[in-house]
Amino acid sequence: MTLGKRALALIFPVVLAGYVLAASLIYYVQGSAILGLERARLWQQMGLLTALFQNEVTQNRSLIYSLVAGDTVRLFVNEPDAGYRSTALGVRLQQSITSLSDDRKKFISVAIIRPPLTVDYYYEDSADPFAEITPQQLAHARQVIASPRLSSWAYLDTAGIEPLIVHSEFIDPLTFNRPVASAKDSAILVQTAVRPNAFLEMKRTLEKEYGAAIEIGQHQFLAQGALSATATLGPSLFARLTPDAAFLESRLGTLKSLLALGAIALSLCTIGLVLLLVRRYITNPIARLDRQLTDVMTGSRSGILAMDEVGEIGRLSANVKRLHDHSMQSFDLVQNASWTDTLTGISNREYFNIRSTQLLEEAEEAGLGCTLLFIDVDNFKFVNDKHGHKIGDELLKTLADRISAIVARIVADRGLPDGLFARLSGDEFAIMLRCQPGGGTITEMANNILSLFAEGFEVLDKAYPVTASIGIAVYPEDARTLPELIANADAAMYQAKSQGKNGSARYSRSLHEKRTRQRRIEEELRVLDPDEEFHLVYMPIVDGHGRVTGCEALLRWTSPALGSVTPDEFIPIAETTGLFSKIDWWVIDRAMADHGRIRKLFGAETILCINISSAELYTKSISDHFCECADRHGVDTRLIEIELTETFAVKLGEQSRRNIEILRSRGFRISIDDFGAGYTSVQQIIEYPAETIKLDRALVESLTRSAALPTLRALVALCHAQDMSVIAEGIDTTEKMTLLAAAGCDLYQGYLISRPLTLEDLGIWAMQRLIDKAREGAQKPERRARA
Ligand code: C2E
Ligand code: MG
Ligand code: MG
Repeated sequence: MTLGKRALALIFPVVLAGYVLAASLIYYVQGSAILGLERARLWQQMGLLTALFQNEVTQNRSLIYSLVAGDTVRLFVNEPDAGYRSTALGVRLQQSITSLSDDRKKFISVAIIRPPLTVDYYYEDSADPFAEITPQQLAHARQVIASPRLSSWAYLDTAGIEPLIVHSEFIDPLTFNRPVASAKDSAILVQTAVRPNAFLEMKRTLEKEYGAAIEIGQHQFLAQGALSATATLGPSLFARLTPDAAFLESRLGTLKSLLALGAIALSLCTIGLVLLLVRRYITNPIARLDRQLTDVMTGSRSGILAMDEVGEIGRLSANVKRLHDHSMQSFDLVQNASWTDTLTGISNREYFNIRSTQLLEEAEEAGLGCTLLFIDVDNFKFVNDKHGHKIGDELLKTLADRISAIVARIVADRGLPDGLFARLSGDEFAIMLRCQPGGGTITEMANNILSLFAEGFEVLDKAYPVTASIGIAVYPEDARTLPELIANADAAMYQAKSQGKNGSARYSRSLHEKRTRQRRIEEELRVLDPDEEFHLVYMPIVDGHGRVTGCEALLRWTSPALGSVTPDEFIPIAETTGLFSKIDWWVIDRAMADHGRIRKLFGAETILCINISSAELYTKSISDHFCECADRHGVDTRLIEIELTETFAVKLGEQSRRNIEILRSRGFRISIDDFGAGYTSVQQIIEYPAETIKLDRALVESLTRSAALPTLRALVALCHAQDMSVIAEGIDTTEKMTLLAAAGCDLYQGYLISRPLTLEDLGIWAMQRLIDKAREGAQKPERRARA
């Protein structure tokens, strides 16, 4: 919820409740006032109604007195001639009645009645010429006559006729004054009736306005409820008006609506105003601060601006700014630390990746190139292990300092943008230069770095036998992305290593193809089923008499995807990718399974030579596997010779030594394969526990070519001195065979004897040899006889 909405949610109910409370109070006070006002007005109206009524009563009384005071009634009453009386005098009476009425339209009636109840004369001022006195008027006359009273008036309001005010007055026919009570029977009763139009008009108006009938009765009324008024119309005539409840409700309803509307309008105005002020002085500054913070968090801005505010918000923004600045400083420190290699103080792999990505992007935009030099220290592990980690660390630090200086100097001399130099891992370094080969910079850089190792690398006044292999890859020619560029420079570095170390190599297409092939071999090795794609061939080993003393098992791989792949190609890949065990275990098992057949071909003492990867000696389980296979196939362990390539011999670790000892204690023979192909030293021949030593094909080739018989003889003698028998590999000419025999070599292996053969072919080969031997045996006596 935004701050504005929160403010609204807070202010709206409070303001609304305030105004509703105020409106309720006003309603309560104003309601009472309105009630009082209406009550007063009602009483006033009723007073006015009473006055109108009484005026009518007075007028009626005046009418009767005026009539009696005049001659007309007297003449009428005293006229004995009934005909004259009703005609001439009746007409005169009518005229005087009409003349006495000031309102021509007003209903007036006059009746002259003799007791007991004889109507002598009746006239009414109406359109009906035959009108007669009403029963109600007669009833009033009867009532007066019957009562001791001499005069009386009444308000006649009966259903069906318009109300009348009736006045009856006894008159003495002689004196025409009010008679004494005893002479009442001889007196005449004059009755006048008027219609109180003004009163009735007002009564109707009031009834309409108040929505209720005015009650008129002869008993005193009491006021009813909050709004009710009574009036005394005469001595025994009373009136009451109690307005309908809806009347007051309509008055109060209007007030209520007005107040409600007022409260809502005022609430809205107040809320609007308060929100405006809240937004201006609270929400907006906080929102501005929040926006800045959000921008900082999303990375669209780097810092927070100081806000021109005072009070809490000003302090808050200042504190947030301070906090942010502090955290940025800490972040910078942490980032710098996380981007720096702790040992050498130069950039680490993480920073190298980040910065190199930027450099490649910049180069792409500018249409320029970059060159990556991937440096690996050769034999660093050897120095580290032999001289200790302290020397190793010192070597890396010194190297980093010297390469840094070289990079800085060459870049400055050539006016190039700064180069990026980082330690990627252990003994791997990388230099990213913002230039391409062609100007000599790369060559100069590589040569300068290599020259650091020209006479060993000097650390703390002592030289160490390390060198460097440098792989070079160029953006965008060799790779378009950083991972690809690193991978290609790495491949070039391996190329440099394989070319004899302490050199540099530029990444090339053929190198790329080689790497691709290596990757495919690796992939295929991972998924292959050895039983499906592998098979073994055997290469016989013979002694000086041509007798087969042993056979070396050699692996062949026919891949459905890659065709035939030589062990020289896939064994090193299997070793570097950790897939060697899968291969070795299969070979050990299969070769031992075949041993029985080989023995049948060449004799019970035929030795089976099995090659294993030197890395295998670092695993504990290899000796168990050899023993288990020997047990399973019923093979005499003394007839198994395990060939270890000389690379293992460079350094025999604890585990390897233990494994060899275990294998030897179980009867297995050990042979050092490919002696002379690499770094095996004479000292190692002396040190290592082996039964046999195999002179490498290349060594045999070179020594026989140069006819170095004394050297060969010395070498064989040295091995014999160590109780080792010597096998010469690569015997493909009789000259080599003759020379090695002369040097004292024990056994021979090579194409001259036989190529590696499948078990079936080996059988044919053995058979062929027997036939040849037999033929030779047959020819010998023949020759002797001929001789
Ligand atoms: P290696 O153990 O030294 O095997 C001898 C290699 O030299 C074999 O090559 C053999 O065919 C070859 N060779 C022997 N005499 C001659 C000759 O007169 N002329 C020529 N041109 N070549 C000769 P291959 O079979 O290609 O094996 C190469 C290497 O692969 C082996 O060298 C061994 O290191 C490795 N390897 C072969 N089979 C296995 C195996 O089953 N397991 C392991 N771990 N490595 C194996
Ligand atoms: Mg071998
Ligand atoms: Mg060999």
